[in-house]
Amino acid sequence: MTHKSIIIGAGFAGFTAAVYLARAGLKPLVIKGQSPSYHVTTTMEIEYFPGFLHGIQGPELLDNMFKQAEEFGAVVKIGDVTRIDVAKRPFKVWLEGWGELQTNTLIIASGTTAKLLGIPGEKDHLGLGVSTCAPCSGFFFRNKKVIVVGGGDSAMEEAIYLSHYASEISIVNRSDQPRASLALMNRAREITKINWLMNRTPIEVLAGEKGIKGLKVTNTVTGQEENLAAEGVFVAVGSKPNTEFLANQLPIDKHGYLKVKPGTTETDIPGIFACGDVQDRRYRQILNAIGSGCMAAIDCQRFLTST
Ligand code: NAP
Repeated sequence: MTHKSIIIGAGFAGFTAAVYLARAGLKPLVIKGQSPSYHVTTTMEIEYFPGFLHGIQGPELLDNMFKQAEEFGAVVKIGDVTRIDVAKRPFKVWLEGWGELQTNTLIIASGTTAKLLGIPGEKDHLGLGVSTCAPCSGFFFRNKKVIVVGGGDSAMEEAIYLSHYASEISIVNRSDQPRASLALMNRAREITKINWLMNRTPIEVLAGEKGIKGLKVTNTVTGQEENLAAEGVFVAVGSKPNTEFLANQLPIDKHGYLKVKPGTTETDIPGIFACGDVQDRRYRQILNAIGSGCMAAIDCQRFLTST
């Protein structure tokens, strides 16, 4: 069987495209990867979503999109895409546990994955005191001291989320100013249990027999090394696009983001579209992901009717 459209990625962009295509009767197949979406896991409450006076929970919004897409006729399969072949149509997609799938069009909405620092002790303790996702593991740090590394929006969201559980949070930022947006900075600044440690570069996650003991940093002003005590270290230093499975079959920019034609979601290959964070280095907002998912569905529909 050849699908009319396969959507790789089940985040806000992928499900928006799915809702639109399913509504048009195209029965898209949505592929949901094994790991949770970066945006959903890092953004619990979306307080700025236009029209929602009291905000909305990210997972609830996504779950609603999932149900809506299925009600309109989309099919969702869970598994990781290991590779694709886009040399000619129908395109081929290999899905772990399901084998080879064929499709006339492809929408890539595979999102991004949180980056790590690459310092000693970090990978060994991932999930054991080191985390990139406060909503996934914040609960385990009730009344404990934690560190959040980073000064962007993700770091602020992690710190704000952790403030519901942890006794004390230190935000460790390598430059002298966090770069997060004013709205999130203002919210974080109101939380008195957050300490602000600027000009610190993490160099090692410190662990003992009972787990994480803290983080060793270099103070970039004094040049001194410091050991900061904490039982959990949350790394929020940006993210990288999930494009490995494309194996360079589609053009990506020097940062790894998929290239699309300006003002569209079209890639270099007719019939293949990209939306959401995987093609958006500049904004990476949920609203943009939703908007570009809608654009991808429209571009895809027009392509199908014109070929
Ligand atoms: P980001 O804006 O790129 O910030 C990354 C932070 O990590 C910076 O403070 C950076 O420090 C620090 N950093 C990077 N590499 C580091 C290293 N090796 N060691 C120590 N620190 C390091 O990433 P983000 O916060 O994930 O945000 C990404 C995009 O998503 C942004 O456009 C953001 O607006 C968006 N986003 C939006 C929301 C929201 O609106 N609610 C939520 C999350 C993300 P320097 O400043 O010193 O470089």
